[in-house]
Amino acid sequence: MIIVFGSLNVDMIMPVATLPRPGETVLGKEYHLIPGGKGANQAVAAARSGAQVHMFGAVGKDGFAKLLFDSLGSANVNTDGIATSSKRTGCASISVDQNAENLITVASGANLDAKASSVPNDLLTANTILLFQMEVPAEENWKLIQRAFGCGCRNILNLAPAQAVPPEILKCLDILVVNEIETQMLAKSLNLTPTNQGVAKSISDSYGITCIVTKGAEGTTAYDNGNVIQVDAMKVNPVDTTGAGDTFVGALAAALDEGKTLADAINWANVAGALTCQKIGVQNAIPMRKDIESQM
Ligand code: ADP
Repeated sequence: MIIVFGSLNVDMIMPVATLPRPGETVLGKEYHLIPGGKGANQAVAAARSGAQVHMFGAVGKDGFAKLLFDSLGSANVNTDGIATSSKRTGCASISVDQNAENLITVASGANLDAKASSVPNDLLTANTILLFQMEVPAEENWKLIQRAFGCGCRNILNLAPAQAVPPEILKCLDILVVNEIETQMLAKSLNLTPTNQGVAKSISDSYGITCIVTKGAEGTTAYDNGNVIQVDAMKVNPVDTTGAGDTFVGALAAALDEGKTLADAINWANVAGALTCQKIGVQNAIPMRKDIESQM
């Protein structure tokens, strides 16, 4: 079973001819409201890969929450653990111009009320994988990571968006997943030489964990117990790479949950990530298990 403890956001996308400068108003035509948030995206990706998934986090008492419940529900994610906050559902306002340049403001809203204590102990067993990102309060992540570690669960942290991680938390992880930008930021916070290989290897060796670096079209490299595993990306013509990282992480967790080896799980997740790049959007673009299987 997989528990995702993380964010739920609605993305409000406004196509505009040119992006506004400070103090300027630009008029667009249509806008789109789509379900998002790294936590919710990863929960959908894990469920579509075939895992049993429980999502924990918080939303507001508003119409945006319904959009998220509908999307998670149709992917068969268990939403019983999602709390209702007095704050509004998290929202990202995204203006995109004709050259696909964007301007993004995220209001965390209800995500600030995600509580580690909402996850009951009876779900924290040796058969549970927990999945974390950095869009809910870091202290709540750290509390749940330590509790889950004590219960013998496997913890996967996707350090997105990048923040410093205390060494005592790194020790409680099974897997840390970072992209190339997050790797550089982590290097600074740990005073390590900022090369991908050096940072990831050094984290893996120092804390006894697996460190996976995703590199877009270049595929994925994992540093695991002194071994380096390089898995090439599937060749695709990408139309929209948004959500590739979230899909990778959710699919990876699902593949490990069903007992695949690390190398096979990374290959599965690479294919899932690549397929997401072939459709515009995020949750709607996340592939189903049969679509991933047909590319293996
Ligand atoms: P993020 O979205 O967090 O920046 P990446 O861009 O590294 O993450 O993508 C995550 C994974 O998705 C990659 O490791 C790769 O397997 C797959 N992927 C992403 N972009 C492409 C692409 N252009 N072609 C093929 N696979 C891709």
